[in-house]
Amino acid sequence: MNKIFIAILLLAITGCTPGLNEEVINQDPKPMNVTASFYPLAFISQRVGGKLVQVTQITPGGVEPHDYEPTPQDLTAVSNSQIFIKNGYGVDAWADNIVGVKATSKIEAMNGNSGLQDPHMWLNPLNLISEAEVIRDAFVAGDPENSAKYMLNAQGLINDLKGLDQEFKDGLKECKVRQIVTSHDAFRYMAKRYNFETLAIAGLSPEEEPSPKRLAELSDFAKKNNIKYIFFETLVSPKLADTIAKEIGAKSLVLNPIEGLTREEAIMGKDYLFLMQENLKNLRTAMQCK
Ligand SMILES: [Zn+2]
Repeated sequence: MNKIFIAILLLAITGCTPGLNEEVINQDPKPMNVTASFYPLAFISQRVGGKLVQVTQITPGGVEPHDYEPTPQDLTAVSNSQIFIKNGYGVDAWADNIVGVKATSKIEAMNGNSGLQDPHMWLNPLNLISEAEVIRDAFVAGDPENSAKYMLNAQGLINDLKGLDQEFKDGLKECKVRQIVTSHDAFRYMAKRYNFETLAIAGLSPEEEPSPKRLAELSDFAKKNNIKYIFFETLVSPKLADTIAKEIGAKSLVLNPIEGLTREEAIMGKDYLFLMQENLKNLRTAMQCK
């Protein structure tokens, strides 16, 4: 607003200077309006877009996305945005019929136990690189004038993710235990990348509750594999994880599927990279790594 005011003032002072008004407006362009279905995609969009984008995250912070139902206001925000970023594979099922950029389009999906395809690609940092490239290309196509900036921002994020991948590789190289038990089945891509085995209490969505048979299997698995920690997560009740932990005499620890930031995480400025570092720390404890 100030710049426009100054521009008018300058015009008044200098008379009609051709191009001046246009130049001033170009220095402060309106950011591109981007919506993202849930946190990891909003994180990438913000990093790749920087000041050139205004990102709206549809699934609110602190809300588990698998069963989120968008409000009419959410849907209006999506249809008013220039670019809508979605994940697919059921974590944002409401977005399946909405035209948008599917960030996971270049990633090969793995199958969950139920036979459904697993949506949790973002928990392998290399997959997040692929998503960042898809989002970068969408921003470049939507706003080609600023392509150099999107390329540069994306490269910064890609470098951070390569660093994170290396830390995980090093940190989980020599461990006594290579099996973990988690709340819901979110860590398949991470486990495959860093060569450990993951067993989940619930299914691909936290609402898929386990049968008594499943719980018995988990207890056996944990005992057999000398598992001392059961992981729970931030957006889902820890009740079942606690029950199993007690039953087998294990402790519980957080392994964050980073599906949304809690209020505290948001206030403290924690982001995907920070939470992945916390995950690595807790994995190293649970897996007794050197
Ligand atoms: Zn999930």
